[in-house]
Formats: sequence, structure tokens, C-alpha cells
Amino acid sequence: MNVDKLMLQLEQKHPGEVEYLQAVREVLESIEDIYNQNPQFEAAGIIERIVEPDRILTFKIPWVDDSGKVNVNLGYRVQFNNAIGPYKGGLRFHPSVNLSGLKFLGFEQIFKNSLTTLPMGGGKGGSDFNPKGKSDAEVMRFCQAFMMELWRLIGPETDVPAGDIGVGGREIGFLYGMYRKLARENTGVLTGKGGTWGGSLVRPEATGFGNVYFAKEMLATKGETFEGKTVAISGFGNVAWGAALKATELGAKVVTMSGPDGYIYDPEGISGEKIDYMLELRASNNDIVKPYSYKFESGQFYEGKKPWEQKVDIALPCAIQNELNKEDAEMLVKNGCICVSEGANMPCTPEAIEVIQSNKLLYGPGKAANAGGVATSGLEMSQNSMKLSWSREEVDEKLHSIMCNIHEACVKYGKGTDGHVDYVKGANIAGFLKVANAMLDQGVI
Ligand code: GLU
Repeated sequence: MNVDKLMLQLEQKHPGEVEYLQAVREVLESIEDIYNQNPQFEAAGIIERIVEPDRILTFKIPWVDDSGKVNVNLGYRVQFNNAIGPYKGGLRFHPSVNLSGLKFLGFEQIFKNSLTTLPMGGGKGGSDFNPKGKSDAEVMRFCQAFMMELWRLIGPETDVPAGDIGVGGREIGFLYGMYRKLARENTGVLTGKGGTWGGSLVRPEATGFGNVYFAKEMLATKGETFEGKTVAISGFGNVAWGAALKATELGAKVVTMSGPDGYIYDPEGISGEKIDYMLELRASNNDIVKPYSYKFESGQFYEGKKPWEQKVDIALPCAIQNELNKEDAEMLVKNGCICVSEGANMPCTPEAIEVIQSNKLLYGPGKAANAGGVATSGLEMSQNSMKLSWSREEVDEKLHSIMCNIHEACVKYGKGTDGHVDYVKGANIAGFLKVANAMLDQGVI
């Protein structure tokens, strides 16, 4: 394999798909050596086959808002690879959604899902619809119109979507209701469902819990723990909330949370009722965190700023892609931060990763560190298949052991001769090998 040549061909085929091309390059660079040491991969055209989605569905979603106006949004489902299990991955509803972004996320999802050790292929979907500021009735009509198109392509053994940015319990409920009506079946076709109709305990907080479990394993390689550490978290949704709960439980002090309006710094720690308040803020559908500083005296609001300027031991970016850039990374390094673990998908820019890695901080890429969400979706699928529900303890224990296994796999393939672990390389190789070997076993299809 020649990475530059392959990338040139892909750029010509898919001009302008910046995020997708960037994600492919990162994986190819990580797996180049192992690929070239195994000529059977080249002979079966594994790379040429894995970088293209199996298929993409694009559709329009006409819906009527509360004022009677007709709106038209675009919808997508990218079915990327199902060599090891049904296509699996979230739906994102956000104005920034486009095909390049979803192809990037779907491609990442193949390797993330492979790392979980569960039988799930990779997929992603969504729409440029913005649920912020919409009434429940508008969100319901939109979700129903979205599912009118999507339902023919998905199924509990075919493709199992879930939530992502802009798609939470409310949206999954409306989507599931329409699927159930059209397909005339009650199955585990979506994950992130409500507790009384097939959802799994721990799923809402699983991505945040998983991220902290992964960071805990990384810290242990240096003889460190969360006990007594200060932690900066960005975001204030489910991922941030779960991470704040678990980090606090492990003895750390979470000192920041953030929204698009700025961030809160609370030196007394964001714990107890303050963590619950994060969810209240989110439920208000407002997208702002400033009110925290009115409610809790110890919380200071920094307008238009990002939490990475605070002196902390551990940083958990849990908001959105490219939220932590080179300058932010330099600031974290200067302030003595020892660990960055990604709760969001691609929150660190490539330049930030370069700074973090060259300064030998522990760095957990989202593909590995935020796999706890989809892993718990996999556990929800298992429970749905068995028509049983596991207790909170059972699910949490399984999630914990999956995150430990992912960490072990990253160390196995990412440990250098100097003992330093490159978790990006480790995650990419471990995730790739399982899928590539399955593709080899199943022939050229
Ligand atoms: N959207 C989440 C992710 O990026 C979860 C996907 C799922 O549960 O299928 O992994």
C-alpha cells in the first residue's frame, strides 16, 4: 500500500470531502506497516473496499411547522461496512450535517464498533434539521417524516441506528413509534430507547462513563488515578454529564462545563445537585450554560471562552468536533495536564493531537475512548434479542470490562520500543484487523 497514491485517487473521486479524507488518511497511516506485512490484504483489495461505503441513502424530508409553513430538509443513511455485524451508528440532527461529515463518522464507526468486541458493523446517518428551538410537536412531525423514508433500509438484523448530536431519548421515541407502525413489529431496531420499551439501563450515561473508564486505564499505566485530580470537561449533554458523574465518583474534582456561549469554572467542583443541573439546563432546549453562575455562587462564567485555559490535570473534551485546537493543546501542556481523553468524536484538531502526542501526554482518541456509548447500544441489542433486561450493575460491569479490553487492544498494537503507547495507532490497527480478517474470510462481495 502506498498511502499518498491511494489518497490522491480518493481525493479525485471525492473532491472537497475534507473530514472523510482526513479520517481515511489517519487510519491508512496507522495501518500501513501491518498491511504491507500481510500481502493477503492487498490481494483481496481490502483497503479499496473498506474506504468506500457499501451504500448511501439520500432523501428529502418535507414537514410542516407549527405556523403551517412547509419545510424541506435532507436526510442520509451511510451504510459503511457490515462484515462483522449489522450496520450500527448514530443519527445526527444538526444544521452542519452533510455527506462528507457523515462519511467521516461512518468510517470511524467501523473501527470503533470493531474495538468494542461486539458484533456490530459501521454506519451513520442524520439530517441538516436543527431540533434546537423547535416544539415537541415539530420534532415529532419531522422524526415521523424522516422514518417514513428510512424504515425500508433498517432492521434489527440489518442496520440499527441510535442517537448522536441532536438526537436523544425524545427523538428516538418518535422515530421508534413510526418504525413500529410501518414495520408492524416491536424489535430492537433502534438503541437508546426508553426503559419501558426496550431501552437499556446505563445507556444515557454510558459514553461518559466509558470515557472515564478508558482514561482510568491510561492513567494506571503511569501509576496514576483520578483520586484528587482536577478535571476540565467541555459540553453539558449526556456525555459530559456521565463523565462528570463517574470522575467525581472516582475521587476527582470536575471544575468546568461548557456550552456554545462560554464555559463555567467552579473551583469547588461540579458534583451532586450541580451535575443534575447540567441535565436541567439541557432540557431547557436553550443551549447555554451561563445560568449556572446565577444558581451556584462558586461558578464563574467566561463568555465566549473554552475551558482549556484552566489549569487542570485531566481534560475530557465531550462537546463537538474540532473544539480543542493547537493553542488550546499548548495551554493544557503548559499548565501540566497529563491526560486528554476524547468523549466526543474528533474534538481535537490534527494540530492539537500533534502537540499532545509530541509532549507525551496520555491521549485517548474518540474511536477508543468514547466507544462506551455504542458498546452499551450493543448490550441493549443483546437484551432485546433475549427479551430480557439486565440490572444497572450488570450493564455497568460489562461496559467497564469492554473499556478495559479496548485499552488492552490499544496497548497491544500501539506500544513503542520506548514503552510509550500511541493509542491512535493501537486503536486503528486493532479495529482494522478484526474487520479485515472477516472480509478475507467472506470473499470478495
Ligand atoms: N453516536 C454514538 C457514537 O458516536 C453512539 C452510536 C450508537 O450507539 O449506535 O458512537
